[in-house]
Amino acid sequence: MKPVQKKRLFGTNGIRGIPNADLSTAFAMDIGKSIGSYFTVERIAIARDTRLTGNMIETAVASGIMSTGSSVTDLGVLPTPALQYYCKTYDIYGVMITASHNPPQFNGIKCIDRDGTELAEEDELAVEDVYFSKKFSVSDWSKCGTLAHDDTAADSYVAAILKKIDAATISKAALRIAFDAGNGASYQTTPALLSALNTRLVTLNCNADGRFTSRESEPKPENLSSLIDMVKSGSFDLGIAHDGDADRAVFIDEKGRFIDGDKTLSLIVKYTARKGDLVVTPVSSSDCISNVCKETGATLVRTRVGAPIVSRKMIDIKAMIGGEENGGVIYSGHQFCRDGAMTAALVLQLIAASKKSISELIGELPKYTLAKRAVHISKPWGELLQSLEAEFSGKEIDRTDGIKIKEGKNWVLIRPSGTEPIVRLYAQGKDEKDSSTLADKYQAKLEKIMK
Ligand code: MG
Repeated sequence: MKPVQKKRLFGTNGIRGIPNADLSTAFAMDIGKSIGSYFTVERIAIARDTRLTGNMIETAVASGIMSTGSSVTDLGVLPTPALQYYCKTYDIYGVMITASHNPPQFNGIKCIDRDGTELAEEDELAVEDVYFSKKFSVSDWSKCGTLAHDDTAADSYVAAILKKIDAATISKAALRIAFDAGNGASYQTTPALLSALNTRLVTLNCNADGRFTSRESEPKPENLSSLIDMVKSGSFDLGIAHDGDADRAVFIDEKGRFIDGDKTLSLIVKYTARKGDLVVTPVSSSDCISNVCKETGATLVRTRVGAPIVSRKMIDIKAMIGGEENGGVIYSGHQFCRDGAMTAALVLQLIAASKKSISELIGELPKYTLAKRAVHISKPWGELLQSLEAEFSGKEIDRTDGIKIKEGKNWVLIRPSGTEPIVRLYAQGKDEKDSSTLADKYQAKLEKIMK
């Protein structure tokens, strides 16, 4: 069985597939061998989220790594950013077994660099080259790696976050928090962090359950109805939810309203960045963050879409903060990767310090909304792009990623998906109706071009 049909194995966020269907244990072991053959290091850390196939895939990858002579340290179930923090702390490579927010039948393999960021594209390509050539550096029996366990990673990760924030101010506020782990990898770490911050905490779905029986893993409003109802019916300052591997955090305001990730990022930038700081975000985030940067005197740098791209850019230019519109915030004071628990701690900090409610804070931000669509395409992206360029030749166009077309004070971004035959369409408007109308208009244009 050919495990993955595409030439490239690593997508924007690692390898993904359904174990025993298109992600076999034999394939996972060969990926382990490829990783070990390429890195040729003494030790590699490995961790997993709560998925039922986590043990199986992790064991296969670890076995492949050990066959090349590298030893493996198994950190157990952890949020992806906790593994990343461990890699950064000990200056070692890591492998995360996760499919992030995908449905429970999926799993995946993602490589972490020694500085804690996602592995650079050229290194992923090199690992793939080893895989496709099958030129594994398999060791003599006497030099094979061994397996060790380290269960300290979760505690040191939480302790690190506590050191980066004003824990005294947050603790004094005794905030009332409802937290939903969605049965995912954050089921222990985020409750531990919130308890250490003296919050009045009620938890939801904080049992590790790889079937994700309580809600779907993607933290979008339609999957968070239990948390939203809980916040609405109780007396809470904030609701918090993560995706399956907890590199993202989303928030529910005290009235039970879902807060867009775009707004969370802008809010954190507003209260954290100072004059002269650099802020990085992809072209898909709204102009809310551009306006906030102007107000604070920070300089905004826009990149292509993808958390690893934002992280690398932040390191290159020594940026202070960065992130995406989906709830992934990267705070340089902690580490150069998306981190759900760190994001939650920053939001608690700004509520506690401002003595305002989260809805008041959000209400003070510039008003923009984003409408997002996924449109199935029947033509290759290159052809479609040519037609789009011809169609919009009279308009102001940005080609940082896909094509971004200026529409008065707003814009529409159309970019191909890296993994599926779809294009992603983002439309910015001044309110929901406005962005929706713009998205509909461009979706219709796209469908017409494809005919
Ligand atoms: Mg994730």
